[in-house]
Amino acid sequence: MNSSIQEIRHVLEQYDRIMITAHVSPDGDAIGSTLALYGWLHSLHKEVVVVFDDDVDEKFNFLQDYEAIQKPEDIQTDDSWLTVVLDATDMNRLGHAADLAKGKILNIDHHISNQHFADWEYIRPDFAAAGEILTYLFLTWNIPIEAAWADALYLAVATDCGFFKFSNTTGHTLRMAGALVDAGAHPNIISEHLDARSLAKMQALGEVLQHIELFGSNAVAGLAFTPELMQYTGEHTGSYMDYVRNIKGVDVAFTVKFVSDTETRVSLRSKTVDVNAIAAVFGGGGHVRAAGCTIASSLEDAKKMVVKEILKAI
Ligand code: 5GP
Ligand code: MN
Repeated sequence: MNSSIQEIRHVLEQYDRIMITAHVSPDGDAIGSTLALYGWLHSLHKEVVVVFDDDVDEKFNFLQDYEAIQKPEDIQTDDSWLTVVLDATDMNRLGHAADLAKGKILNIDHHISNQHFADWEYIRPDFAAAGEILTYLFLTWNIPIEAAWADALYLAVATDCGFFKFSNTTGHTLRMAGALVDAGAHPNIISEHLDARSLAKMQALGEVLQHIELFGSNAVAGLAFTPELMQYTGEHTGSYMDYVRNIKGVDVAFTVKFVSDTETRVSLRSKTVDVNAIAAVFGGGGHVRAAGCTIASSLEDAKKMVVKEILKAI
């Protein structure tokens, strides 16, 4: 059950040592919300660390405090530390960062599939991003939002709602984004950094698009990131999903990504189908229109399993 907004503030102010983390394969929301919370807690002169058990895409390196992001092996904690888990449903989503959570845990999240695992939680599935929740908390607490935190929060909100194009965009989402721009966020600069690609990556897009496949009378589109294709894209493949989902007539879009011969990462997006339910079949979760899971099978087998479940659902 959600703690009150004032209790959440009290918990954060009470601790002197705080570790902030979010889900593996961190996206704009995970990174932006952790760095904004880091900014505020750091300004209160607390000992604060930001940890991700995954490489962070360097396209985010324009954010203030990007350099503060550390790997689990670089950090020592004990049970006097508070762990703040942002944008994640359960401890299994944190990779090795979970091993550092030795004391109490505060979870701030917006996933419908949240597992309600923490000592204190503030879960808002009606919000588009963890960054939207944090913005709302800062405003409710009357904390002046510094421009650098506003940039991080704007990035968090905008990336999780597809720059205000997805169905999770509400009036509240837009009001929070407006408040962030008033606080000094730079929508143009954020978009420039996120959209910029090297010429080689831009040209690789042509190769990637050739690999999109259609299923189920063209209502389903999928893209498999084989090791060969990832020579063109690199490790960070999240941005290609938009091309798959934007194909005319497609309801469900998915990507499957090679991790090893026995492990495949799956991302799902939809216009009408509940993809959280499809991801749940494989032990994953997320939101109704955006979800993911990891399948302990080869890329080809995982793809077949995912297509089968999608076709059952549409
Ligand atoms: P993505 O496809 O971008 O990795 O994830 C889409 C959404 O589903 C994100 O909000 C992400 O946090 C969530 N998600 C992705 N994979 C998993 C998973 O394995 N388990 C859970 N619980 N959520 C996931
Ligand atoms: Mn999120």
